[in-house]
This record gives sequence, structure tokens and C-alpha cells, in this order.
Amino acid sequence: MKSIYFLGECMVELRVLDGATMGQSYAGDVYNSAVYLKRCFTDIATSIVTAIGQDKLSDKMLSCFKNENINTQFVFRHNSKVPGLYLIDTDAQGERSFTYWRSDAAARKIVDFLDDDVITQLGAGDMLFFSGISLAVIEESAREQFWIRLEQLKAAGVKVVFDPNYRARLWQSEDQAKQQFERALRFSDVTLPGVEDLTVLYGIDSAQQVIDFCQSFGIAEIVVKNGPESVITFVQGQLTAHHITPVTNVVDTTSAGDAFNGVYLGARLSGRSISDAVQLAATAAGTVIQHPGAIAPRDEFKKVMLAAGI
Ligand code: AMP
Repeated sequence: MKSIYFLGECMVELRVLDGATMGQSYAGDVYNSAVYLKRCFTDIATSIVTAIGQDKLSDKMLSCFKNENINTQFVFRHNSKVPGLYLIDTDAQGERSFTYWRSDAAARKIVDFLDDDVITQLGAGDMLFFSGISLAVIEESAREQFWIRLEQLKAAGVKVVFDPNYRARLWQSEDQAKQQFERALRFSDVTLPGVEDLTVLYGIDSAQQVIDFCQSFGIAEIVVKNGPESVITFVQGQLTAHHITPVTNVVDTTSAGDAFNGVYLGARLSGRSISDAVQLAATAAGTVIQHPGAIAPRDEFKKVMLAAGI
């Protein structure tokens, strides 16, 4: 059985429904990707590597992972910290705004839990995914240790996958983000960048420039997401532009990239070709954006993906 780890943060999501009522769920880039991968590829062991608390919301978050058939063996429980939280509010014009409480989240402590024993267990897996957001939330004091652990996993044969998702507010400076991203790219066997993420940091504004930039790190499999325009891949010296069918009924683009990442990696782990994996991933992302929130309804999502040939 193939296996993949998604390392990072899952948060408590609050959504204002009307003036006095809020809906509550769970979301976070690595969690979203894990959910969509597992819904499509049930025979891939899919684990989240994160830290949560001992509180009731953490209990429910754990149940939520289990409900999606995600392995929780590497979900560690911090003694005093609790999960990060964010609130989505929508104004009269339909504009969404986000407020975050995540600066003291349990997930920031994940590296503390990656001891020799855990690294030995993780070393048996096939792939480890982390994002620019995962990197940003790791405490600054733990980053060196994170790179040591990643090196150990890579030496054990785990393929490293990085999505340089950039969230400016999570970093002290652009220089700090760039330095960490470049370190991550040097480790990566596969990368799944969006064009926009590299625009602010590197002034890159085309898919070709993203390919050139990632190639300079010697990455074997480069998959560039460029919204509804196209997906460009560069693998074994071969550059391919994949056509994406644009969705007209876009409701909420939250987690489009996450769904793409999860389904693409699941397809690749299942032995699918690059172009098959891109088409399945684009179908997943195109479906997710027709539903509100990060996680689309399971049955509807699975129906579309079955028809697409998962
Ligand atoms: P983005 O993060 O905007 O590049 O989007 C991630 C993925 O979602 C893209 O690679 C597409 O596969 C898909 N996607 C985004 N926007 C659209 C759209 N309007 N129509 C169809 N697919 C889309």
C-alpha cells in the first residue's frame, strides 16, 4: 500500500451565517488536500502530521480526520496549546474577509514531536507533502531542526513535495520567506507552485518563469497551476501545457489548489501518467470551486470524480 503524509496545520473554521449564528468546521491546506486525495484514492494510506490540543474542539477535529478515513497516528496532542482558529465573514457585497487567531496554535509545535522514533516510522512512507503555510507556522526556533528531520526522511527514501503557498502575514519579512522557500525547493522531488505565489516574492508572473525558477533547484517534477488558464508541467526535460476547461459557475475558490494537489499526488502515487493526474486534479479543483467552503460535499464530489475515471 502506498502512503503519503501531509505535514502542517488544520484550523477551526467559524463562518458567520447570519448576525447571531455561526457555523463551525475544520480546514487548512494540508487537511483539505488529504481529504480530497483519500476520497479519490481509498487505497493510499493518507496521514496528517500535525499537533492539536487536549480540548474538545481538538477531539472533534480528530474525529473529523477519522471520518474522512485519514490516519491519525501522527496527530500529536500538545499538553497546553489548542488549535488555531479563523473566522470568515461575508459583507453585503459578497466580499469575504478572514480573521485569524493562530499565532499560538498547537500546530506550531509539530517539530517538537518529531523524535527519532517518529522519524523512523515516517521513513517507511512514500511521500511527504508540506506547503509554504506549513513552513511559516513552524516556530522559527524549530526550523533548523525541521530541516534536519526532513533530510533524514529524504535519506530514508521519502519523496519530498512542496507547494510554495505564500501568505505574507505569516512571515516576518519577504527575505525570511524566500530563504525558507529556497531551502524547501532544494529538498523537493516534486513541486506544485501557483504562479501568483511567486509573484510577490520573486517578481515572477508567468508559468514559464515559474518553471525556469524551479528548474534552477533541480526539481524532477514541476507542476505549475495557473488558475483556469492552464497547467504547465516540466518532467524529465519535457514541457507540456495541459488544457483546463474553465468553470463558469465559480462559487468559492477556497481550496482549489489544495484539491488539485491532493488528487494530483494521489493519482501519481497510483501510477497514473502526468497528463491523467493533471486532468483528474483539475476536475477535482473545478468541482470544489462550485461549492462554498474548503470541503465540498462528499457524495457529490465522489460522483464527479468517479465519472472522471478515478
Ligand atoms: P489556482 O490556485 O487559482 O491556480 O487554482 C488551482 C487549480 O484550480 C487550477 O490549476 C485549476 O485546475 C483549478 N481552477 C481554478 N480556477 C478555475 C476555473 N475558473 N475553472 C476551472 N478550474 C479552475
